[in-house]
Amino acid sequence: MDVAKPSPLVGVLGGGQLGRMLALAGYPLDVRCKFVDPEPDAPAGQVAEQIVASFDDVEALEELARSDVVTFEFESVPEAAARRIARHVAVRPSPDVLATAQDRLAEKTLFRELGIPVAPFCAVNTDGDVDRAVAEVGLPALLKTRRLGYDGKGQRIVRERADVASAFAELGRVPSILEGWVAFEREVSQLAVRGLDGRTEYYPLVENHHEDGLLRLSLCPAPRSSAALGRTARDYAQRILERFDYVGVIALEMFELRGGLFANEIAPRVHNSGHFTIEGAATSQFENHLRAILGLPLGSTLLRGHSSMINLIGSVPERSALLALADVHLHAYGKAPRAGRKVGHVTVCTPDPVTLNERTRAVCDAIGWKAPDGVLAVERQ
Ligand code: AMP
Repeated sequence: MDVAKPSPLVGVLGGGQLGRMLALAGYPLDVRCKFVDPEPDAPAGQVAEQIVASFDDVEALEELARSDVVTFEFESVPEAAARRIARHVAVRPSPDVLATAQDRLAEKTLFRELGIPVAPFCAVNTDGDVDRAVAEVGLPALLKTRRLGYDGKGQRIVRERADVASAFAELGRVPSILEGWVAFEREVSQLAVRGLDGRTEYYPLVENHHEDGLLRLSLCPAPRSSAALGRTARDYAQRILERFDYVGVIALEMFELRGGLFANEIAPRVHNSGHFTIEGAATSQFENHLRAILGLPLGSTLLRGHSSMINLIGSVPERSALLALADVHLHAYGKAPRAGRKVGHVTVCTPDPVTLNERTRAVCDAIGWKAPDGVLAVERQ
């Protein structure tokens, strides 16, 4: 009988709530996580060891490189930090995918190369590129900065030719892309995990609802999804995983339109739309990410019923108000309240979709947020 190696150590760049949930998933397996994050008392640092340092602090990176494997939970960690660490220890997933995900032009080009449908797009680097971009992409469109855009930041809707030039100026004339507007019916994400041996497991498709650029509500399995839609989503994710010989959890965010899927972006990490897997799947995305990067067998991604996830934005409501509700699981991230900040989430997990809608509506009422019309309607299922 093999004897388990004592406490594998996972180094993590970034110490936000995703890191915190990774650390918590590691506990039962006796897998320890150590984080680098510049923010003192970061959410992950409250439950695990944290080196308080910036991502270009060479000493901190070298300390992290003494872990058994290193990963990242924050997409904007400088590629150079991941590459420096990769000289000493395996970084999973690879810094190559991090670099691609940080640049919208590289990301959309990858989708195109892999034959994954994507909205028309065109680089805008100078004012002189605007006319050509409008001609290629058409209007309405979105002008998005190539880098550092997240949660809807760094982008402008443009409806007329003149809007493009002014939006480009507003965004600071930084390298950007003009992207055609997709009149999508809904947004979905495909979460998958690929192990060191290439074995891949897929979670069922998730339906996502955003508000002001932030994810508010996820539902899994995504209601009214055909088997064919699920196959398409898995096929697109697989193409990306194989391209990078990927190891770990990935999220592929897509728009659904007339039965087809258009890729929007990849998150090469555990993802907000997969939080429900903590209670709603046989193995959570966090545990599966740790298993994958440590070369351990992956766990089943089968669902334990029907789940919803509601983000708590700004502040965590009175705990007792939420915990009084049936089938509710509260996660508070230990973050100070601030408008527009993700400070926690609630997962609702039920055996059937009708009860799920009922219970989810109760959570929405308790937090004073109204789900978009029809989304939680019983007849919708
Ligand atoms: P992103 O930062 O690219 O994830 O975009 C944030 C949100 O803007 C998405 O979740 C969509 O709701 C919306 N969005 C982004 N790109 C497009 C597009 N090409 N067409 C329509 N809506 C979009």
